[in-house]
Amino acid sequence: MLNIVDNCAMACSYCVLQNHYDEAVIAVPTNLKAKLAEVELNPAKRYRIGTGEYSDSLLWGNKNDILADLCDFARAHPNAIIELKTKSANVGWILENGIPANVCCSWSLNPQTIVANEEHKTASLDRRLQAARAVADKGVKVGFHFHPMMYFEGWEAEYQALMARVVAMFKPEEVLWISLGCVTMLKGFAQDFRLKYSHSKLLQMETETTPDGKITYAFAVREGLYRNALAALAPWKDQVFQYLCMEHKPMWDSVMGFAYPSMGEFDDAFNASAFAKL
Ligand code: SF4
Repeated sequence: MLNIVDNCAMACSYCVLQNHYDEAVIAVPTNLKAKLAEVELNPAKRYRIGTGEYSDSLLWGNKNDILADLCDFARAHPNAIIELKTKSANVGWILENGIPANVCCSWSLNPQTIVANEEHKTASLDRRLQAARAVADKGVKVGFHFHPMMYFEGWEAEYQALMARVVAMFKPEEVLWISLGCVTMLKGFAQDFRLKYSHSKLLQMETETTPDGKITYAFAVREGLYRNALAALAPWKDQVFQYLCMEHKPMWDSVMGFAYPSMGEFDDAFNASAFAKL
């Protein structure tokens, strides 16, 4: 994971960055090229490198040449897939300039009900999908993260409609991966969240603590969310790499019918599928 920009302006209610940074200052680097020059990759290995752990990868466009520098880095490292993960529709620079084949744009998607209530300053679902379609039309590979999935009134129909819309809008060869994951919070953050967003329905249901001490929905609730989504994604079962995010073997066995024995084997399968589509 490359940490490019510090902090985000999108204000998702569930975003842990609220507790991570003391001030509402967003730092876009001015020397990314120099920082990237220090990154050492083994040419014999394959990498997937995310860029949005502490911000949104496309929110700032090419400010301070960050996208241009990432593209140069990608050209120098064809054994790496660089992921630009976003909830924005800010693809103007990419459409105008093009990007190397090993730079993928990915969108975090949720039904518009969740976008409107919990993802406050993000692009609407329609705008995100239009942006994804626009870059795919330019030959850019895309990915989709249905994460964090949430439980709310009407979730079955809204998630099914969202998955069906994605399947109808894109060809499987355009899509490198799909991930599914449920809302997960550090315990302290969940307590703050309940105080700050008392109107939110997000955590007003049964939760459990994960083996690494985080709060998430009860197993059966997550299982239902995943099964519902995977049923709608069934047309792409063997054509688009689909995986569960931050879930352990029992959930994989239950909803995927198998589990990778190790992270290394997961990475190998992921890379084999993604690089074959570039
Ligand atoms: S877009 Fe991502 S980084 Fe930005 S506020 Fe939302 S969850 Fe946080």
